[in-house]
Amino acid sequence: MLPKPLQQLQKFFEKFPGIGPRQASRFVFFLSKQPKEYIENFIQSLQSMLTEVNLCSNCNLPGLKKNSLCAICSDSSRDKKTIYIVEKEGDALNLEKTNIHNGVYFVLGKNISPIEKTQTAKEQIKNLVKKLRRENNPEVILALNNTREGNFTAMYIKEMFKENELNNVKLTSLGRGLSTGSELEYADEETLRNALKNRH
Ligand SMILES: [Zn+2]
Repeated sequence: MLPKPLQQLQKFFEKFPGIGPRQASRFVFFLSKQPKEYIENFIQSLQSMLTEVNLCSNCNLPGLKKNSLCAICSDSSRDKKTIYIVEKEGDALNLEKTNIHNGVYFVLGKNISPIEKTQTAKEQIKNLVKKLRRENNPEVILALNNTREGNFTAMYIKEMFKENELNNVKLTSLGRGLSTGSELEYADEETLRNALKNRH
């Protein structure tokens, strides 16, 4: 029923996390009704993202291309020796919002699934190990979701640290104030504060 250009547009939205075909078509209808100026600004915004934004070479959070580090990693008041390992950017964003710590992040991009054995996350952990070797007694806090994949990833990281004899690293995990199956991205400040206080 949709004309071809809109069908194509819909396909882009269907790839968005948590968006199904029905919601994707809603976005398409919404856009098709917007004034020309709105659409032009939208395109401009995508274009700016493409030309100006980059992933930080230190933590994988998005930053400006003209600086090699993101705003957090280049902030001199940040404690670079306290590193929170998170699965996705949204987890870091939520921890940031609560203002409960002064450390930096390392974004895996994806959890390691026992079934899929995701290569990207494994590569990221390898990079992390390399980076930590150069640090002087850092603390690494596993801030992963309390899900099957999250726990599997935590186990994998612990094994890798042991295998690589990273004895200079203090490795802790967020306390289980976070209930089973819960996602860090949606945890409230109180829960995160407790989980951080009870890290072990
Ligand atoms: Zn960074």
